[in-house]
Amino acid sequence: MANGMKRTALTAAWVVGHADGQHCLYRNGTVVVEGEKVLYVGHDFDGEVAETIDFGEAVIGPGFIDLDALADLDTTVLSYDNHPPELKGRVWPESYMRAGPREMYSPDELAFQKRYAFTRLIRNGITTALPIASLFYRAWGETAEEFDAAADAAADLGLRVYLGPAYRSGNLVVNAERQIGFHYDEARGFQGLADAEAFITRHENTHGGLIRTMLAPDRIETCTPDLLARSGAAARAHNVPIRLHCCQSRLEYDLVLQQHGKSPLELLRDTAFFAPATILPHGLFLSGVNGITHDAPDHDILCQSGAALVHCPLVMARGGKVMQSFPRFRDLGVTIGMGTDTHPADMIQNMAIGVMTARIAEGNATCVSAADFYNAATLGGAEALNRPDLGRLVPGAAADLNVIRLDNPDIGQRIDPIQTLLLNGSGRDVSDVMIAGRFVMRDGIIPGVDEGEYHRRAQAQFDGMVAQYPDRTLFHPPVEEIFPTSYPLG
Ligand SMILES: [Zn+2]
Repeated sequence: MANGMKRTALTAAWVVGHADGQHCLYRNGTVVVEGEKVLYVGHDFDGEVAETIDFGEAVIGPGFIDLDALADLDTTVLSYDNHPPELKGRVWPESYMRAGPREMYSPDELAFQKRYAFTRLIRNGITTALPIASLFYRAWGETAEEFDAAADAAADLGLRVYLGPAYRSGNLVVNAERQIGFHYDEARGFQGLADAEAFITRHENTHGGLIRTMLAPDRIETCTPDLLARSGAAARAHNVPIRLHCCQSRLEYDLVLQQHGKSPLELLRDTAFFAPATILPHGLFLSGVNGITHDAPDHDILCQSGAALVHCPLVMARGGKVMQSFPRFRDLGVTIGMGTDTHPADMIQNMAIGVMTARIAEGNATCVSAADFYNAATLGGAEALNRPDLGRLVPGAAADLNVIRLDNPDIGQRIDPIQTLLLNGSGRDVSDVMIAGRFVMRDGIIPGVDEGEYHRRAQAQFDGMVAQYPDRTLFHPPVEEIFPTSYPLG
C-alpha cells in the first residue's frame, strides 16, 4: 500500500454511504478505512486491503453525534414520577443555599461518573459527544480538574468529544413559602468563564484532534446578560462551539421575560451571544408555541442567528413536552441536531420517539420520515459543529462509524434498514463502534472496561448521592418521602 497505512475493508448487508449531499444505501456494501479516515464506500473495492471484516446481516452507518450527551449517572430516574421539582430536591432551598452549597461527589466520583457515561455513549453507537451533566449536585459549576480527567477518559476510550466545564452566575432557590427566586453571584460566573477559557487553551485539538473544546454556559436563566455577552465574545475569539440551554421550559421563558423584559432569544440577540457554532438545547418554548402567548420575533431571530437546535425528544416526552415542531424548524432551514441528554443514551430510541412526537405535534403522519431523524443524528450534528468531515461515510471523512445488528429476532421483518431501526431497533443492537479508524467497541466489548464492575460502582455512587437528598430538599423530608415507591411496600 502506497503510504504504508493499514487498510481495512468492512462489509455488511447494508452500508449507509453519502453522495450528492445526502445519505445513500448500498446493499451488500463495503467501507474501506485507511488510518483515521474513510478511503472508499461502495460495492466493490479493487485495491489491496490488509483485512476484511464481514458483519453479515447488519447496517454500517456513520457514528451518531450527540450534542447533549449525558456525562452523569442517571438522575432523571429521580424525576420520572416525583414532582414538583421544588419539593423533590431539584431546586435548592434557601436554607441549603445559606449554609453554603457543597459538592455531593468526590473528585474520584466525578472522574468515574464521566468515564462510566462515556462507555454508555459508545455502547449506543455515539462517536462524537458534547457532554452534559446536572449541576444540582455541585457546589456551583463544573471544575476544570474534572474536565482534565474527562479528557483523559475520552482519549483512553477513544471517544471524540467537545469538552468544556459548565459555568453560571445564578441559581434557582426556593423559600419556605415555596416561592422560587434567584441567587446571583456574578463574580463566580466570570471566574467560571475564565477557567473554561484556560481549559480551551490546554486541551483544544489534542490527542490527534479527538479532544476538542467548547464553552458551556449552563442555562440562559442562570447567566447574567454580561456573562452571556462575554461568553459569546470568547466563543468567537477562540473559535469554539458554544452551547447554552435555552427555550427549554415555560419557567425559563417567564423568568427571562420578567427579569429582562425580553424573550430568551431576544436576550441572546441583544447581548451579541451568537457565534459561528451556537448550539441551543432544546427549542421548545418560543413565541406562539407551547403556550407562550408573548409576542416576540423568536423564530426570525433563530433563523438569522444560524444557531443549531438540539432536539432531545425522549427526555422531553418523559416530562410531557414536545417540540412544536421538528418539521416546522426543518422547513425554516434551522439546523437540527440530536441529543440524548438522559439515560439510556439511546439515539435509536430518541429518533423513534422524535418521529412519533413530531407526527403528534403536527397531527400528520407524513410530516417527518425516519430519514429526517437519521439525518439529524448524523448530518445535523456535523453541521452544528461546522464539521463536514463527520456524520457521513464518504472518502476523506473521519472513520467514525457504528455497526447495528439486523439479525436479532426482536427486529422483526425488514425492507429498509433505517425504517426498521426506528421501528424495532434499540441502542442494544449496536455491536461495533469505530472512531478515527480505531475500534472502540468490538462485538459488544469495550476494551479494558469491566461493565459489571462499572454498573455496581455507579449504583453505589448513586445510592450515596440519593442519601444526601434530604439535606438539599425543602423542609428536609426523609428519602422515602421524596422518592416513594410506585406501590406501598408489603
Ligand atoms: Zn438538556
